Amino acid sequence: MKDYWQNYIDGAWVDGGAGRIDVINPGTGEKLAEHALADAADVDRAVQAARRVHMSGALSDLRPVERGRMVQAMGRYLLEHKDEVAEVLTLEQGKPLWEALIEVEGAARYFEYYGNQAETVEGRSIPLGKDYFDFTTYEPFGVSAQIIPWNYPVEMTARSLSAALATGNACVIKTPELTPLSNEWFAHAAEAVGLPKGAVNILCGLGHEAGSALSGHPQVNQIVFTGSVPTGIAIATAAAQNVVPCVLELGGKSAAIVHSDADLDAFENDIRWGIYFNAGQVCSAMSRVIAHDSIHDQLVERMVSVAKSLTVLPGTEQPEFGPTMGAMVSEGQRDRAADMVSAAEGQGARVVTGGRKLNIPGAFLEPTVISGVTPDMTIAQDEVFGPVLSVLKFRDDAEAIEIANGTPYGLVSGVFTRDIDRATSAARQLRAGQVFVNEWYAGGVETPFGGYGKSGYGREKGREALWNYVQTKNVAIRLKG
Ligand code: NAD
Repeated sequence: MKDYWQNYIDGAWVDGGAGRIDVINPGTGEKLAEHALADAADVDRAVQAARRVHMSGALSDLRPVERGRMVQAMGRYLLEHKDEVAEVLTLEQGKPLWEALIEVEGAARYFEYYGNQAETVEGRSIPLGKDYFDFTTYEPFGVSAQIIPWNYPVEMTARSLSAALATGNACVIKTPELTPLSNEWFAHAAEAVGLPKGAVNILCGLGHEAGSALSGHPQVNQIVFTGSVPTGIAIATAAAQNVVPCVLELGGKSAAIVHSDADLDAFENDIRWGIYFNAGQVCSAMSRVIAHDSIHDQLVERMVSVAKSLTVLPGTEQPEFGPTMGAMVSEGQRDRAADMVSAAEGQGARVVTGGRKLNIPGAFLEPTVISGVTPDMTIAQDEVFGPVLSVLKFRDDAEAIEIANGTPYGLVSGVFTRDIDRATSAARQLRAGQVFVNEWYAGGVETPFGGYGKSGYGREKGREALWNYVQTKNVAIRLKG
């Protein structure tokens, strides 16, 4: 592990105008390395570099299959280096090594998918009678700014970068302050596959400084953001001032409705993945379970047994897939989650298991289940972003839907039942961009993902995401004779 990591601007590794930031290993609480910290001038240099690439046509004039092949090759590069990337990701983020490997493989999959999609972005011809020939084309916006969160730094960058490059945009990536290191491999990948200098710029900087300079830069043409609601509002405001589009993915308070006829054995697996994967720091985490009255008590028992089955320890000590959980990203995020659990107890909920910090160095929180939660409680409304599952009760289908829809968010939702009519009816009524039936996280890179309500707007993943990065041009030709 090197001591000092730099920013990557216009094909060169550079220091930051704002100095350096310490990167902490949340698995030990110790300093891991320093990273260059960009200021507004660095951001400007990166945007200008990306703009030069765009104006030169070096990316946008290529035949799409050529861009697609480069994008696919970036994915292969990540796979070839997955052990190195995963190790650094675990050290900076806290997740188990086996989860970090899944994340790097998931990142590579985005490059495979969007590399394949590059040559599918086709226009159409619109009939205007015999005197005209009219057609549409899709052109890249130009400079795509991507502001990345710390929970999945590798996968989130891959998600936007792959689609943006496949459609011919040059990119400036602002990595998260807490987990900037693992993004370095995207720069190596861009070089390895022969992308022009300046096509991919990667810099770490503080949100209110570099992040704000990037989202407000007048030569940024499109913005992608994943993170919290208040930051999303600041970014959307900056985008509006420059009249550029943005995609916002702002988290959620997603609920699984579990009916009395659900397969409860299978649901234990959904508990394990839905709320304890990445220590619950997942925007689409299953942070609420709405259980039918008749199965509520046995379901809570099952949740407790899943939570207790997990061994919590530093991610580096978890190379193999298994019933384990790592540290949260920082002591600050861990304390915030622990405080929310205590506040829920204060409002009358019952902490059935977990809720305490581990008495070892590092940002560890026990896997937690809270029952007796009612829809009005803060814990039922606000995103914890930690390994904390809230359980609510319902008596009939209408009440279940009302509770599920009763937050300002709407990212994903789930319904667990053997009755297909009940499931499809719920899917129609749930206000969420994605509904899982009988398996939390069903789907993949191919399935569009994004929010209703305060969970944001625009869609990532799937073919839908391609349209974030292109604008339509219509060409109407008057024919003679
Ligand atoms: P955040 O939204 O403040 O940070 C996310 C990214 O935005 C970081 O790269 C940050 O540097 C940048 N940023 C911050 N302020 C900015 C600004 N004014 N302009 C431009 N960029 C800016 O999130 P956080 O403070 O790291 O975490 C707080 C909470 O956000 C979490 O507890 C969680 O609830 C939520 N969160 C959600 C997701 C998600 O995937 N939806 C990811 C991370 C955090």
